[in-house]
Amino acid sequence: MKPVPTEARLPSRDEYYNLANRLEWTPKYVSEEELFPVDMTGVPNLPIDVWAELYDAPYKVTYREYVKNQRDKDQRVFAIREAGVRTELVKKLDKTYHQGSFCFHITAVPIPEYTAAIAEARMARFGKAGEWRNLATFGSMDEVRHAQVQILLSHDSISVSPKFAFAHKMFWVDGWLPIAARSFFDDTITATSAIEFALMTTFAFETGFTNLQFVAYAAMANKANDFVFSSTTQSIQTDESRHAQIGHPVLKSFVDVTKVAEEVKKKI
Ligand code: FE
Ligand code: FE
Repeated sequence: MKPVPTEARLPSRDEYYNLANRLEWTPKYVSEEELFPVDMTGVPNLPIDVWAELYDAPYKVTYREYVKNQRDKDQRVFAIREAGVRTELVKKLDKTYHQGSFCFHITAVPIPEYTAAIAEARMARFGKAGEWRNLATFGSMDEVRHAQVQILLSHDSISVSPKFAFAHKMFWVDGWLPIAARSFFDDTITATSAIEFALMTTFAFETGFTNLQFVAYAAMANKANDFVFSSTTQSIQTDESRHAQIGHPVLKSFVDVTKVAEEVKKKI
């Protein structure tokens, strides 16, 4: 019997996702250690094949979906911000809210967001699994968006108080808060390996702190009639909840490897 040729078809969305995210190259001119130096990737120094096998992200998004989502989100944020600027919203807000907690957030957060873009880019290069690197690429673009949009909102408030210039200045001033914050973010973001950043920032800090902060701030801004900040923080939070999950599979890989190592030990 003549074989019936199967009809050519495009891969489904999930097939495409798995293919694109597990795509790896075989280095020929450099060793694995040179391609992924342990200082940049971090410890434990597991082989690429093991990472590819173990790393399985809970939040799966393709580049095409990412671009469309982000474009829609930005369109919404900038339209709402425009409405706020035209109605001179910042001059009408409650002073205690606007120059207190709003000012604290909007001046303290933009520069750490920018440093997070650098650390996400480090994972995008030195993470040892394809899916990890792709998600970190999106994470890096997220953090650039967060830094830019929040610097823009603080700039919109400069006419009300010069304090808002600290969105740029804060990390170059030697007050106790900037010194403590610089030290903390150097340890958890700027000077980390890919694995350290995944565990300390995306898993611990972004899950335990950033997400909660952004949700609470959105609710508070809503109560204070600050519709611009309320919708901006909600928009940022949708990114945070996605890239905060990059660290979970890294932690799970640790647990899996530890279990295997213990089983091997028992057998010896
Ligand atoms: Fe962020
Ligand atoms: Fe983040």
